[in-house]
Amino acid sequence: MAEDIEAEVLVLGLGAVGAAVAYQLDRRGRDFIGIERQPAAGHAFGSSHGETRITREAVGEGLDYIPLVKRSHEIWAELETPARTLRHEVGVLYLSCGEAGAARHGATDFITATRKAAKVAGVDLVRMDASALRTAYPRFEVTDDTVGYLEPRAGYVRPEACIAAQLEAIAAPDGKLRYGETVLDLDEAAGGVRVQTDLSTYRARQVVVAMGAWIPGLVGDPFSREVEVLRQVQHWFLADPQGPWAAGGGPAFLWFHGPGPNDVFYGFGTTPGGRAGVKVATEQYALSGAPDDTDWAVSQAESQAMFDTHVRGRLVGVTAERVDAAACLYTWNGRADAAGHKGRFLIGPHREIPGVTVVSACSGHGFKHSAGLGDAIVRQMLGEAPLPGCDLSVFRPDA
Ligand SMILES: Cc1cc2nc3c(=O)[nH]c(=O)nc-3n(C[C@H](O)[C@H](O)[C@H](O)COP(=O)(O)OP(=O)(O)OC[C@H]3O[C@@H](n4cnc5c(N)ncnc54)[C@H](O)[C@@H]3O)c2cc1C
Repeated sequence: MAEDIEAEVLVLGLGAVGAAVAYQLDRRGRDFIGIERQPAAGHAFGSSHGETRITREAVGEGLDYIPLVKRSHEIWAELETPARTLRHEVGVLYLSCGEAGAARHGATDFITATRKAAKVAGVDLVRMDASALRTAYPRFEVTDDTVGYLEPRAGYVRPEACIAAQLEAIAAPDGKLRYGETVLDLDEAAGGVRVQTDLSTYRARQVVVAMGAWIPGLVGDPFSREVEVLRQVQHWFLADPQGPWAAGGGPAFLWFHGPGPNDVFYGFGTTPGGRAGVKVATEQYALSGAPDDTDWAVSQAESQAMFDTHVRGRLVGVTAERVDAAACLYTWNGRADAAGHKGRFLIGPHREIPGVTVVSACSGHGFKHSAGLGDAIVRQMLGEAPLPGCDLSVFRPDA
């Protein structure tokens, strides 16, 4: 029988979180192996594809995320080259009817939560009334009661490029990064953890499970009890070449156009080298399912409904002609914390197997934190000083 392949650390899944953990281990010269079931990184069958992810330091989802996003911004800056921009500071515009934005990611009043977070993060938000918005941004058809807050130094990151940049920075990756290999099981073993894949058996002192929507199926409770997998859709619509979206660029926007939880959508102007078209998306929380049963195809009817419900009458000159669409997965934690926030990350040890850290960082807002989270996780795992201001224990699920 073949011997177990040994490493100090195994990283299971090389999406946003796994790539960040692997990069941080490599920077410290540690012995690790990363295992990814898809044939290459930056694929379209998880939670990290679609060209753009909003990033903002005024984190309305909770103040404890601020050190993570700030650290992510530092890490992405260190990986940028003249030929590769990872973060685009085009600004993020928060639009709402009146001052209180509707519910989002568990915050019942997302705009107020964002303003509070801006103060803590040391970020200036620029307030604009409807008239100022119409002058500055003719691409948005706003109602008279619309209020906007611009976070000028926010914007978007390119998720596939961020993942690739971290993995490509790993020295001598052959052998360390294994693609097209599926993790099947975890077990306690002498001196650590045994991991069974469809190709090999591994043994390591520590394991990080970063398998996104597939985490609940591998590790069981409390993660499987706390998280649901929700299919989401990103749509790209053609903009009138004579209209205000034709020039591309920012800001990215997050628009609460009514008081209900479904009266919200977000989007981005066309991006350099990206798909032709304005990207928009909303969020759905009603339908959950097993990740392997996901319907990755997006029907024309889904895109038409998105256009009719959110885009029509709001984005000037954006047509109903669909350029593309892509399904994507949220790993959603629906339980509210003490402050009433839902959508919290779940990060903690495996209930039964010592040496295993499980990192579920999705719920629709995790990408911006992922690089910083990689650093924070590795610091914790290696017994280093924690990332300043960051306490990962706040994300620990109930046992
Ligand atoms: C539509 C959409 C929009 C979003 N918008 C934003 C946004 O604007 N801003 C923001 O900050 N965040 C946003 N997010 C959230 C963010 O993208 C996620 O938090 C983040 O991508 C999650 O990364 P992950 O590493 O947990 O999962 P993934 O990136 O999916 O990585 C998990 C990896 O594990 C692999 N894997 C699974 N099972 C196995 C197995 N058995 N063996 C080996 N490998 C396996 C998968 O193939 C995958 O590569 C959005 C998410 C979606 C879906």
